[in-house]
Amino acid sequence: MAYQTTNPYTNEVVKTYENATADEIEASLAQAQKLYKQWRNDPVSSRIPVLRKLAQIFRDETDDLAKVLTTEMGKLFIEAQGEVQLCAMIADYYAEHAEDLLKPRKIESIAGDAQLENHPLGVLMAVEPWNFPYYQMMRIFAPNFAVGDPIVYKHAAITPAAALAFEDAVKRAGAPAGALKNLFLSYDQVSTVVSDKRVQGVALTGSERGGVAVAEEAGKHLKKTTMELGGVDAFIVAHDANMDDVKAIAPRARLYNAGQVCTSSKRFIVTANHYDEFLESLKAAFASVKMGDPMDPKTTLAPMNSRKAKEKLQKQVDEALTNGATAYYVHEPIDSDGQFFMPTILTDITKDNPAYGKEMFGPVAQVYKVADDDEAVALANDADYGLGGIVFAGSAEAGAELASRIETGMVFVNTFFSSLPELEFGGVKRSGFGRELGQTGISSFVNQELVVKREHPNDNEAGGLVLPHKF
Ligand code: NAP
Repeated sequence: MAYQTTNPYTNEVVKTYENATADEIEASLAQAQKLYKQWRNDPVSSRIPVLRKLAQIFRDETDDLAKVLTTEMGKLFIEAQGEVQLCAMIADYYAEHAEDLLKPRKIESIAGDAQLENHPLGVLMAVEPWNFPYYQMMRIFAPNFAVGDPIVYKHAAITPAAALAFEDAVKRAGAPAGALKNLFLSYDQVSTVVSDKRVQGVALTGSERGGVAVAEEAGKHLKKTTMELGGVDAFIVAHDANMDDVKAIAPRARLYNAGQVCTSSKRFIVTANHYDEFLESLKAAFASVKMGDPMDPKTTLAPMNSRKAKEKLQKQVDEALTNGATAYYVHEPIDSDGQFFMPTILTDITKDNPAYGKEMFGPVAQVYKVADDDEAVALANDADYGLGGIVFAGSAEAGAELASRIETGMVFVNTFFSSLPELEFGGVKRSGFGRELGQTGISSFVNQELVVKREHPNDNEAGGLVLPHKF
């Protein structure tokens, strides 16, 4: 497996990187383990200044950091700047709240003076994807750094420069050696690290395929895991939705990051009374995108991350059409060698079509017509995945009622889907398990150690399970 930066707009191979050696892997794990042992004795507060400094670096160096993303995976520069800013917000959030979130929790118990203490768990292995190369890293790094869990990580093969830039920023923020170590690992080497006795937890963000492979390996070795996987998120247009709001949000919900977002709206489920109007407006929006240099502020749709990804999506669309779907709209081709995928709207996707319920990771919208809101919820739930979702309805309350009937991890009502540090992120079904960010995100890889204390044994009133016998 070659770690390589290839600019998907120019197709220039910028740089190729060597895989890690066995010695590098061993040295990294040894250093991480040493740091874990030290961190067990250090308070959370000792690590907070590094997070504050890291946030400052991401703010001060926004443009330089953003350019790495645009060069390497084609993201619009303005979206890359947004990603870098979000990283600063996440580092700041945990700098501000980690001590409070990790405070011991008192438990009232007849056994004695009981509390649940939050201790580091140990060295973690993170496996991360290319679509938000810094944000995905920050989601796992900031909370677990505060906890005191050192991390070794494997980033996507196509984003090695972003992997190194993140590691470098953490180092410059003052993190001790071993706190975060990038390793260019093959899949076999990932298995080696996951199985290592020093590694106590494994976090993966990526596809269902990658998640299954790594979770299987982690399961074999009884490692705690979080899996943040793909989705086919529904965007429900309820019978009483405000269509001006819908029209403003729907195109962005599909085309942001060139449609390569786990929580992109991949299935628009539209009640019959709005169906024609919705299709017309989505078509107008898709037709008006400007594809071009992602560094140019006038460009509104970026190339996809790689030729391979574009070819995979084209194959999925072709297969959908062969099996009866209608290409309601396909953007006219543009004159560019960049890895642009022409925005496409598919309709008439029946349940027996291979595209039904499959994740299409790019600027392709599937639009479904339903009779009413109940049918919309039923269709939204007829999927193997459950990551995010958007509902537009006549009122926030009515939308929230529909939202809570959807089997999914996160739903936004009458607004754009956004990820923020204080909001838990994660899914159900084959979209994975566990949560990143927010309060839950910081407790994923924590040893919740129960300590019960008293001055003398409690040898009578508790009885039962506490003291079954007197010897
Ligand atoms: P992917 O192929 O699973 O890659 C993600 C990471 O896993 C990469 O570092 C990849 O390495 C690694 N990987 C894949 N198979 C592996 C294996 N058998 N052993 C060890 N490592 C392995 O995912 P992708 O297609 O690049 O990313 C897009 C997917 O991620 C979409 O499905 C998207 O919905 C999902 N995603 C989910 C979230 C979330 O929070 N739920 C966020 C973003 C993206 P290589 O690059 O070397 O193959």
